[in-house]
Amino acid sequence: MQKMTPSYVASALAISLALAFPAHADSAKNAAVVKEAPLRAHLAFLASDVLEGRGTGQRGADLTVAYLETQALALGLKPGNGDSYRQSVQIAGVKAQPAESTLKLEAGGQALPISFGKDWVFAPGDATASHSFNADLVFVGYGITAPDEQWNDYKDMDLKGKILVMMVNDPQPTAAQPNRFNGKGLTYYGRWTYKFEEAKRQGAAGVLLIHTTPTASYGWSVIQNSWSGVERFQLASGTLGTQLQGWMTDDTARALFKAAGQDIDALRAAAEGKDFKPVPLAAKLSGEMKAAVRKVEQFNVAAVVPGTDSKLKDEVVIYSAHWDHLGKQGDTGDTIFNGAVDNASGSAALLAMAQEAVRAPAKRSQMFLWVAAEEQGLLGSAAYASAPLWPLAKTAANLNLDSLNFVGATRDIGTQGSERTELGKLAETAAKAMGMHIAEAEPDLAGGYFRSDHFNFAKNGVPAFSIESGREYVKDPAGSKAKAAAYDKRYHQVSDEYDASWDLSGMVQTAQYTLNLGRLIANGAKLPEWKAGDAFAKPRNAK
Ligand SMILES: [Zn+2]
Repeated sequence: MQKMTPSYVASALAISLALAFPAHADSAKNAAVVKEAPLRAHLAFLASDVLEGRGTGQRGADLTVAYLETQALALGLKPGNGDSYRQSVQIAGVKAQPAESTLKLEAGGQALPISFGKDWVFAPGDATASHSFNADLVFVGYGITAPDEQWNDYKDMDLKGKILVMMVNDPQPTAAQPNRFNGKGLTYYGRWTYKFEEAKRQGAAGVLLIHTTPTASYGWSVIQNSWSGVERFQLASGTLGTQLQGWMTDDTARALFKAAGQDIDALRAAAEGKDFKPVPLAAKLSGEMKAAVRKVEQFNVAAVVPGTDSKLKDEVVIYSAHWDHLGKQGDTGDTIFNGAVDNASGSAALLAMAQEAVRAPAKRSQMFLWVAAEEQGLLGSAAYASAPLWPLAKTAANLNLDSLNFVGATRDIGTQGSERTELGKLAETAAKAMGMHIAEAEPDLAGGYFRSDHFNFAKNGVPAFSIESGREYVKDPAGSKAKAAAYDKRYHQVSDEYDASWDLSGMVQTAQYTLNLGRLIANGAKLPEWKAGDAFAKPRNAK
């Protein structure tokens, strides 16, 4: 096997594309070949300390947006929002103030000896600075209403003003029903975002989720880090939730249920069955909850390469990547969360792709969309989907990039989620044309499909998925795999930093693949559709 240097990949690609698509073959002049040099330069800059970790509501965010719109202008892309590259995203910043709060959990007539951060966390879900509670707790199992699974944990019980105690994840497969709630995979009903949304629909005052590492797919420290001592963000309108949102550790939940005279293990077991009914706990939440609340304006950056076909140019393929990361936090040691992989890589890839798309446009238009505040709960893409800059009905697809391959070129490429729509077939075609194959699907245990910006498009009927790194590395497979795995320790840490020695052949390959797939869609005869029966299959939102 020849070494897959970027130039080899590029020339092999040009040849194989010409062979694969004689009908609208990319001639050498017309080929869109993503270059490593600009991708590396954008990556190094976006990940540098100068941008201070691109934190929502921080100075680094303003610098990042200015950089992206300047680059889009310099590349010759058209503004995506009238004469502006910016789309306003109105956000509320909320920081819990546990020291000023007097919130306590009582069971069996006694307050539990628990402390904020270590044992539980809470914050307002409605961007309001002050709340006072005296509310009963009710255990609602998984807290799911799923007509498609004939499942309803609430059984029409009146839960207005209650604090709902819930398990995360969704009902596990049984011998009789191995495929319920997508078997071992996580459905949207299992995501904590769904639980908060459903509690609001039930009229509850608040939610306390019970954390366990297997059900959440991450440890308590992840929750502690993102809920205590930091500002959390939500859209200033439209997605406001219950008054209180929070989590407690498994130990806290055990102590609470015990003090309330309940057997938590028995209740959990009961919650695995359809007949489960909400269980009022002899426990309540009382006291004041205080938080600092401020309004913040952030921006999505949208830039367009108009299509060449007089009719099809009214339709668009959207490539997206979130530009934000965790910013600057704390005041000692390294305080900058550079987010080189997450997601300076995807943002830089979009710029390098846009450079080629301008030079070699397609029949349909192509939008390059850098979204804000992904790390705060996919807020920028949610804001886009609720006020789209291009009609969703004329949006062919969304291809999202988040955290790209910094290790080396691969023989496979991750396209999980594409199989839900006609994009699946096109994804295969694009892979074959580059001499790659689709990475073997892994059970979606952590609900990856619901945790990236493409999901806000999917929810609104637009076929969408995120392109992910392959795992079959061309060079030094074992060593490369180990390098990729070692990133787990740098994920959401200050050590997610750019390293000039990175082999970017895999990142260029992923960007090239995404652009090729986007061009296949943009040059295709018709808009791709959902497969009948998929949980998200519905017509594109009329917005
Ligand atoms: Zn990310």
